[in-house]
Amino acid sequence: MKMITILGSTGSIGTNALEVIRNSKENFKVLAMSAHSNHELLLEQIEEFSPKYVSIGTEVGYRAIKDKYPDLVTYRGEEGLKILGGLEEADTVLTAVSGSVGIEATIEAVKKEKRIALANKETMVAAGDLINKLMEEYRGAEIIPVDSEHSAIFQSMLGGRREEVKKIIITASGGTFKGKSLEELENVTVEEALKHPNWSMGKKITIDSSTLVNKGLEVIEAHQLFKVPYESIEVLVHPQSIVHSMVEFHDTTVMAQLGAPDMKVPIQYAFTYPERKENHSFGNLDFKKISKLTFEEPDHGIFKGIEYAFEAGKTGKSMPAVFNAANEVAVELFLKGKIKFLEIYKILREAMDRHTPVEIIDFETIKKVDTETRNWVMANFA
Ligand code: NDP
Ligand code: MG
Repeated sequence: MKMITILGSTGSIGTNALEVIRNSKENFKVLAMSAHSNHELLLEQIEEFSPKYVSIGTEVGYRAIKDKYPDLVTYRGEEGLKILGGLEEADTVLTAVSGSVGIEATIEAVKKEKRIALANKETMVAAGDLINKLMEEYRGAEIIPVDSEHSAIFQSMLGGRREEVKKIIITASGGTFKGKSLEELENVTVEEALKHPNWSMGKKITIDSSTLVNKGLEVIEAHQLFKVPYESIEVLVHPQSIVHSMVEFHDTTVMAQLGAPDMKVPIQYAFTYPERKENHSFGNLDFKKISKLTFEEPDHGIFKGIEYAFEAGKTGKSMPAVFNAANEVAVELFLKGKIKFLEIYKILREAMDRHTPVEIIDFETIKKVDTETRNWVMANFA
């Protein structure tokens, strides 16, 4: 029986993880879970999964939980998230909060040498250098990626040795706006941007998919997780989202991982690796129903998310944290109707241009760069 902590249980990844656990009760038990604003759903989840610890972001949520479950160990806010990340009794910590708020909890899980099922890509983008440094110190910690592309790369890597890898090929659906011109993108609405062709996800990552910033974040995430130079990472648009990513080895062999677009599969794999377990809630891939699998170059001239991410990643130091923070605020502003779609790229460009990169030595450095970037975007674009 594996004890699982779910950070962000009320989100898209969080609820998928609970679905995995619901269908595999003999293998997993929920030790702890956290929510930010949705205490109604958290209360339902507590009822069903009986965790030992919970954490909630809001005061009203905290009071609602305490009223109904006075004896349940309940924490609050970012401090609560951090405590849940470092619980001794956990076997695996699933980091499924949205945004860089997940960094400190992940650091705690590394320090306790836990398995981290990493969904929260912003953590590896903003704090990858620091997490990797800590992983060398706390050798018992391990990160198993949940992001479908990185789970696919992780699995494809098992087909050869790390030093035999020539190239990582990350696939992208192309997003809602694939094929649109700059003129057509000028006035797209939030509703249009929130319609993803293949995956049902939280709002922030859905907007990131429409700008292809998500793919950019994934390039940096892949570099940090697999220690592959940026020159050896390529992005290909694959609209069917069946090949989740590929690894090419020196002998030109390409290993790929394929599957239906269902996040439950990489979530469970991160829980069970190196084993694979049957789960009746997963749907098989039916090759007879797939008429074709296609691959093409992304339109970098329009969707600048990938190019800017490569630039931030290659610059290194604090630049990826700036790229991430500027994007988080830009997406929030777009969702609130305060900026237009294409202004997201403008914000990224200007935030990077004005920043002088500094070495990431500790969490405080990341926090400082993150806050400074957020404040600058708010002051100039909100
Ligand atoms: P959602 O927006 O659906 O869920 C986010 C979760 O984080 C919710 O539980 C939310 O709580 C919580 N949360 C939000 N803000 C805060 C905060 N300030 N402090 C603490 N908790 C907070 O996101 P997704 O599930 O889609 O994505 C989660 C992570 O996984 C992201 O990093 C994303 O990039 C990554 N990912 C997601 C995929 C997907 O298919 N959805 C695929 C690959 C990666 P509440 O709802 O209670 O407010
Ligand atoms: Mg992904």
